[in-house]
Amino acid sequence: MPTLRVCSLYPELMNIYADRGNIAVLRARCEWRGLGFEHAAVSLGERLDPDAHDLFYMGGGQDRDQAAVAHDMADTKREALHTAAGGGAVILAVCGGYQLLGHSYELAGKTLPGVGLVDLTTVREPGPRLIGNCAIEADLGAGPQVIAGFENHGGRTYLGAGEEPLGRVLAGHGNNGRDGFEGVHRDNVIGTYLHGPLLPKNVWLADRLIELALEQELEPLDNDELEDAAHASARRAAGV
Ligand code: GLN
Repeated sequence: MPTLRVCSLYPELMNIYADRGNIAVLRARCEWRGLGFEHAAVSLGERLDPDAHDLFYMGGGQDRDQAAVAHDMADTKREALHTAAGGGAVILAVCGGYQLLGHSYELAGKTLPGVGLVDLTTVREPGPRLIGNCAIEADLGAGPQVIAGFENHGGRTYLGAGEEPLGRVLAGHGNNGRDGFEGVHRDNVIGTYLHGPLLPKNVWLADRLIELALEQELEPLDNDELEDAAHASARRAAGV
């Protein structure tokens, strides 16, 4: 039986807005289809085995928790994450986790290192936090679809010239409130500012990530009324 092996990075530190709900959705979507599901966690100082997992997940965090995580991740997990991404593993990072996928996060006169998996930088510029419901249009290889969620970030993220965003902002602020783009998407590495949690409000995305991680197509589930209602409600909240 195919088994999705998920690894949460720093789950006790990087988990604001109940981002662990994303793991619950991945588990349910696998188990309802009779697929296996394994969940592991790695945190400060622990070694990351790039070959032991199909999907790596990191949630959002407060600036102070990100500071603890950023140095540890750059020192002890950078290489493993590059190996995993190069081997086709899915890497999904939300908000504070997303910011640390890039080169750096500059705030309050210090610079937190990122792991450089994608070409982007994040800066805490003067100005309000970017807060509110948000919806984007994204294409993960199965046609354009809407991802809806909630964003709350002080950092503004800027993608390098060759880097592709995850989607186009339909409503909300996105990466920096200026360029109309949200998130990042390179191969199977995905970063986004959208909480919700993300996957309970967008189960099509959860299914797509499982497909990419397991390299197999999934049968649709025939009982998604609640999930579809959650998606519709998140879209309505964003006015889309
Ligand atoms: N601390 C980061 C910021 O404010 C990320 C916040 C989050 O994960 N919601 O930009």
